[in-house]
Amino acid sequence: MQARLIRSREIASEVRHFEFEAVGVDRLDFVPGQFVSLTAEVEGKPITRAYSLASAPNGTNRFELCLNRVEGGKLSPRIFAIRPGETIAMSAPLGTFTLREPARDSILIATGTGITPFRAYLQAFLAKGEPQFTLLLGARYETHLLYRQEFEAMAQQHPQFRFWPTLSRPEPTWSGRSGHVQAHLVEAIDGRMDVDFYLCGLAQMVDDVRAMLKDMGFDRKQIRSEKYD
Ligand SMILES: Cc1cc2nc3c(=O)[nH]c(=O)nc-3n(C[C@H](O)[C@H](O)[C@H](O)COP(=O)(O)OP(=O)(O)OC[C@H]3O[C@@H](n4cnc5c(N)ncnc54)[C@H](O)[C@@H]3O)c2cc1C
Repeated sequence: MQARLIRSREIASEVRHFEFEAVGVDRLDFVPGQFVSLTAEVEGKPITRAYSLASAPNGTNRFELCLNRVEGGKLSPRIFAIRPGETIAMSAPLGTFTLREPARDSILIATGTGITPFRAYLQAFLAKGEPQFTLLLGARYETHLLYRQEFEAMAQQHPQFRFWPTLSRPEPTWSGRSGHVQAHLVEAIDGRMDVDFYLCGLAQMVDDVRAMLKDMGFDRKQIRSEKYD
């Protein structure tokens, strides 16, 4: 299958939001949390990388991605260079980083572009009125809180959604949470054991949070994670 770029826009330094359409199909069916693999030839060799779907399924062939350009990386700089109307090879949606069924109150923990599958979850499930979601989003700087306005608007509209951004290198003007996502975990859990956890981003954060949750006595079935590196 091929994906054709419709448009893309910078949402933070070296981070872009992409809108694609799957060529030759009327609709792209997937479950929020799944990814597609994109493939391009780089220096004579096919290079394939996975990218989480950033939008909920919408009954059309359109879908969204969010990428950061990895310095010296093989494929991500190539995807940043795609112009509207150009195509790239893609797989069908894959993966099991999806909301457990039946869904329980959930704590979503992301750093960087690890926010991507959670944007799809929230688009798909907030309108249902349950479960309760807490999104703990970590970034170094305020400018790297990806999709911040969208999440703030969702939190205003949906009382069952809490948006907790936290900055590890805040400017003096920042009055919100600071430190890594790990620093806010206990407060987000608030003594409950009947919650599920979804962790997404680089391995260091995912491994660290998973170990903390294990130490707190959570069952491994309550923890789903996706590592990007
Ligand atoms: C299931 C899954 C879903 C993913 N979804 C996304 C997504 O939605 N958005 C996204 O931007 N990436 C996502 N990734 C990461 C993506 O697949 C690539 O690894 C990333 O784009 C780097 O590829 P590259 O060819 O440019 O760099 P490479 O040439 O493969 O690697 C360069 C180096 O950068 C490291 N690296 C990999 N990913 C990152 C990263 N995100 N930030 C910093 N360093 C990194 C690698 O460990 C490697 O050491 C996902 C990965 C997986 C496994």
